[in-house]
Amino acid sequence: MSKGLPKRSEDYSLWYNELVKRADLAENSAVRGCMVIKPYGYSIWEKMQAELDRMFKETGHTNAYFPLFIPKSYLSKEASHVEGFAKECAVVTHYRLKNGENGEGVIVDPDAKLEEELIVRPTSETVIWSTYKNWIQSYRDLPLLVNQWANVVRWEMRTRLFLRTAEFLWQEGHTAHATAKEAEAETLQMMNVYATFAEDFMALPVVRGRKSANERFAGADDTLCIEAMMQDGKALQAGTSHFLGQNFAKAFDVKFAAKDGKLDYVWGTSWGVSTRLMGALIMAHSDDNGLVLPPKLAPIQVVIVPIYRKEEEFDAISEKANEIMAELRKVGISVKYDNRDTHKPGWKFAEYELKGVPLRIAIGPRDLENGTIEIARRDNLTKSQFELSSQPIAEKISGMLEEIQEAIYKKAFDFREEKTTEVNTWEEFKDVLENKGGFISAHWDGTPETEDKIKELTKATIRCIPLARKEEEGTCVLTGKPSEGRVYFAKAY
Ligand code: AMP
Repeated sequence: MSKGLPKRSEDYSLWYNELVKRADLAENSAVRGCMVIKPYGYSIWEKMQAELDRMFKETGHTNAYFPLFIPKSYLSKEASHVEGFAKECAVVTHYRLKNGENGEGVIVDPDAKLEEELIVRPTSETVIWSTYKNWIQSYRDLPLLVNQWANVVRWEMRTRLFLRTAEFLWQEGHTAHATAKEAEAETLQMMNVYATFAEDFMALPVVRGRKSANERFAGADDTLCIEAMMQDGKALQAGTSHFLGQNFAKAFDVKFAAKDGKLDYVWGTSWGVSTRLMGALIMAHSDDNGLVLPPKLAPIQVVIVPIYRKEEEFDAISEKANEIMAELRKVGISVKYDNRDTHKPGWKFAEYELKGVPLRIAIGPRDLENGTIEIARRDNLTKSQFELSSQPIAEKISGMLEEIQEAIYKKAFDFREEKTTEVNTWEEFKDVLENKGGFISAHWDGTPETEDKIKELTKATIRCIPLARKEEEGTCVLTGKPSEGRVYFAKAY
């Protein structure tokens, strides 16, 4: 139970891993880097998916599905794309097994070698642009606004549940446009959709920014991103939106006839968020007692626990609980009545704390006499008595859920502000990074060489060039060369 959860202050990494397992979110599988997402974890992911899917559709996108396997030759059509992904590709070479001789068990049948090897998709630009070639002929076919929900495989060396896995679930949007301007607007729009989702639903403040050339997606001309801060001060890239220029259109020969009949290559974007968002959610809000979930993504928003000794008490409490549940469900609140007699109330309290259920209602015989209930908030662990006659229960609980959603956001926001430091000298840079951590806002001369050097010296990378940065000239924190503005550095997941 939660008692045994390691403390964040002692071992943040262990705390995270244990929490993911004990809260029934996910566990490792037989294949290194691949995880089993357990029902409770998956139900949170489903809530994220539902909301994102709604936002994608509101902005004009529709879902489709493309194959898991990509012919190897496709991947190499866009030079920087293949270079970026080559090291992480799982490759299918054969299509059959057979019984080996001499009792060696089942072996790969050497006679069943594929003529062309297949890549398990690490991302789908190539297979999708090879399809778009057939779908796009004229300006009338544009824009093409497609999203896919899928799994992808990137053979990552250092993996961690949700944050970085070899197979992960995600959505990938792939759009095609007649002009660069339109494609750039789409890139920005989708980054903003991600930021809105993170802030309004995950209660996770994010910095909207642009990646430096070093950190740009392989095959993109520009990568926008949202960056979040975890409770250990490290940064997490939570979503990316890429302006692909005409790179994939050129690689797959996708041209369209403009209104004046002139042929031109199509402009593209792609954008994705993954099950990494689950990791972000857990790491940003949870505490030493377990998960803290924002009400908008909590699979169970309210749990009711009866406290009784005698059977008659239980019956009377259940009647009251059923009444309350009916009222809450009417306004769309998800509520569970834990009437199991196999577990004590104390055990249940700890369990729902571990699982991050935002509100817990306890009802005992004395409450029934007094017309009250006890309401406990998961986020700040406070308890209060509520008089049922004082206000409709649905109104009270809705209000509290909203308050919690805001409080969680504010806590994460204040933490990020406190842990974001402007520095002007290299000494300060190193000192803050070592002793305080978090985001460091510093001037940079704009070159990949300096970025590499800083990474080599400190392990900190440029998380992003914030889109909202103020105009400010300065000198690079490492080289002293002129800088156009501050960027965010941090150690990152
Ligand atoms: P990318 O296609 O590299 O821009 O990544 C798209 C999204 O997937 C980003 O939001 C990343 O944070 C996320 N992502 C990338 N690699 C992994 C991984 N190994 N595990 C989980 N999420 C990932």
